[in-house]
Amino acid sequence: MELQEFVPLAPHTTMKIGGLARYFCDVRSPTALKEAIAFTVEKHLPTFVLGGGSNVLIPDAGFPGVVLHITIPGIDWEKQGDDIYATVGAGMVWDQFVAEAVKRGYWGVENLSGIPGSVGASVIQNIGAYGSEVAQVVEWVETYSAKEGMARKISAVECAFAYRGSIFKHERGKEFIVTSVCFRLKKNSVPNVAYKDLAPTFAKKGKTPPTLGEVREAVLAVRKGKLPDIATYGTAGSFFRHPIVSRAEAEAFLAKFPDAPHFDAEGGRVKLSAGWIIDHVLQWKGMRKGNVGTWEKQALVLVNYGGASEKEMRAFAREIQYLAAVKTNIRLEPEVVFVE
Ligand SMILES: Cc1cc2nc3c(=O)[nH]c(=O)nc-3n(C[C@H](O)[C@H](O)[C@H](O)COP(=O)(O)OP(=O)(O)OC[C@H]3O[C@@H](n4cnc5c(N)ncnc54)[C@H](O)[C@@H]3O)c2cc1C
Repeated sequence: MELQEFVPLAPHTTMKIGGLARYFCDVRSPTALKEAIAFTVEKHLPTFVLGGGSNVLIPDAGFPGVVLHITIPGIDWEKQGDDIYATVGAGMVWDQFVAEAVKRGYWGVENLSGIPGSVGASVIQNIGAYGSEVAQVVEWVETYSAKEGMARKISAVECAFAYRGSIFKHERGKEFIVTSVCFRLKKNSVPNVAYKDLAPTFAKKGKTPPTLGEVREAVLAVRKGKLPDIATYGTAGSFFRHPIVSRAEAEAFLAKFPDAPHFDAEGGRVKLSAGWIIDHVLQWKGMRKGNVGTWEKQALVLVNYGGASEKEMRAFAREIQYLAAVKTNIRLEPEVVFVE
């Protein structure tokens, strides 16, 4: 177990915000995780599990306990007919796994190219982009239960995946720390490029179906055009989830804003676009206040333009929530995890 003290957390996040961790532990194996948990139990310290830090907002005051930085590496490939089972360490960088799958000619995760963060965290909020969600390819998730002090394999069904959600985001699943994920990929598949941002790239190509490499390149190009470069700007990508509301709420909203995009969601509910609300109702695309703002090409993306504090970011996000609620009666819930 490698334990460091008073480690700055901002450089471990893409938002580039946050104070010091009292203890910081690089966890490279399930055994190291067990040891680290034993230490936190013995010292009665709170823990926070960190992957790539691309979906968190860390307090300016830092974290008073142990940050468990999951860096468990490795991919194990197993072929069974047309199926490929990839068992991947939770600490592997998500996009390195995607690049490797594409290189080997395995379909299933190419639309999720370019999403920052770790493999372990991909299942926490069921990452999604361009018409795909990781839930579609997860076979099982290997975890360590801090509460039970033992490893536990959780099936895809038990994960209870939903839009930007899973069991791991709920009280009953928060005890599980992901150590590896098994994905089921395919040697042969039909490209999924119907999504509005991808379709135009391939419409120009005519009838030949795109290759895996072409899909990955197209996704990366669209992302590059829309999102800030995390090497330059502080951001956690989309700050809010798209609201999923009852049909009655949607009707009231659409009566006021008939041009607003809306999509059918599970259980007869309706999904609205958080970005559209911030852009068209608040007219806050490219809005800047002090060191924070909304991205000029995508209003849903909040940006630390340099030197922003957690307080500033929270105040800016709260103002968006307040204005959205007043003008639309819709509550915008953060997608970003606020570390307490
Ligand atoms: C520029 C940009 C673009 C993005 N685009 C997308 C997108 O298209 N689609 C999308 O869905 N998301 C997107 N995101 C959000 C983010 O990349 C994902 O949520 C990603 O999965 C977070 O991974 P991470 O390793 O950085 O997690 P972290 O930020 O480190 O942690 C996020 C949460 O997961 C928990 N966690 C992390 N690892 C583990 C583990 N091993 N076990 C248990 N809990 C764990 C943490 O405690 C925390 O609650 C984007 C972010 C950025 C900065």
